[in-house]
Amino acid sequence: MSTVNDFGKNKAFLIDMTKCTGCRGCQVACKQWNQLEAENTEFFSGEGYENPPAMSEFTFTRIKFRDYERNGQSEFAFYKEMCMHCNDAACVSVCPVAAFVKTPEGPVIYKTKTCIGCRFCMIACPFGVPKYEWSKAFPLVRKCTGCYSRVKEGLKPACVTTCPTAITYGPREEMIKEAERRLSAYPDRYLPKVYGKDEAGGTCVIYLTALPFDELGFKPVTMRALPSYTWQALRLVPGIFIGVGATLSAISWFQHRKERVQNEQAGMLSAMFQHPREQESQAQEDQTSQDVKEDQRS
Ligand code: SF4
Ligand code: SF4
Ligand code: SF4
Repeated sequence: MSTVNDFGKNKAFLIDMTKCTGCRGCQVACKQWNQLEAENTEFFSGEGYENPPAMSEFTFTRIKFRDYERNGQSEFAFYKEMCMHCNDAACVSVCPVAAFVKTPEGPVIYKTKTCIGCRFCMIACPFGVPKYEWSKAFPLVRKCTGCYSRVKEGLKPACVTTCPTAITYGPREEMIKEAERRLSAYPDRYLPKVYGKDEAGGTCVIYLTALPFDELGFKPVTMRALPSYTWQALRLVPGIFIGVGATLSAISWFQHRKERVQNEQAGMLSAMFQHPREQESQAQEDQTSQDVKEDQRS
């Protein structure tokens, strides 16, 4: 049985922006863990001293700044921008070849070998997260992975491990409870709202802030899960684009078929020499992967 839809147990980020110092340790840790190139940017490059000016193929998370006055004092407010790892993710629902997958652990991941480059995910994401590798001859889509390779091994994401003050990580239902506890314990400190509890149908990135979300640069989204809107919108996309998507899917299927056959043959050979415990573990992995695929199809 798959646990892919047990959103309460999914791992989630509770990001308390009132505790963020703007140190950008999270940005650096993300670059380091994901081996992302540095970008040429300009200091004070846009409104709110944001640097770099936007997320990109090289920047999966960044801290947005805003200065404001409270009780006659100048204050800074921050917003850590990243993939929201939506419960019912628009990028997952719209991908014609299931290159995007909502994992049972929570992160929404992207399979580079499956992607056909149609970029529907970029159009569908309400938070503007997936970015295209415009700098490459054979571009792929890039975004925050929720550090899935770390989470699978029981580790916390790199940005969480590095953050000295603001980010807590754990089961989504516990993160929401903790956010609500803070709201009732310190009502003067926070805007009375847990962002991500219901937005876009619920997300695995939960925020607390002192300022209204639109003033910090949060994008306006509905409370309803986005895929229902996505498919309504895609019905209006001219047939030619759907046709292109279908053609690209077919090409991708043929391209990947040879690889799959080779992998299966290699798998059969290695299984003949595999220890039974390894075979059992492999079977569990295959079952999990099959469960994920079935959940994506249903
Ligand atoms: S924020 Fe966008 S890219 Fe991330 S899971 Fe949600 S829809 Fe997908
Ligand atoms: S979860 Fe990992 S990939 Fe995502 S912003 Fe944090 S460090 Fe970067
Ligand atoms: S590491 Fe933590 S405190 Fe520093 S900028 Fe990132 S979220 Fe804020």
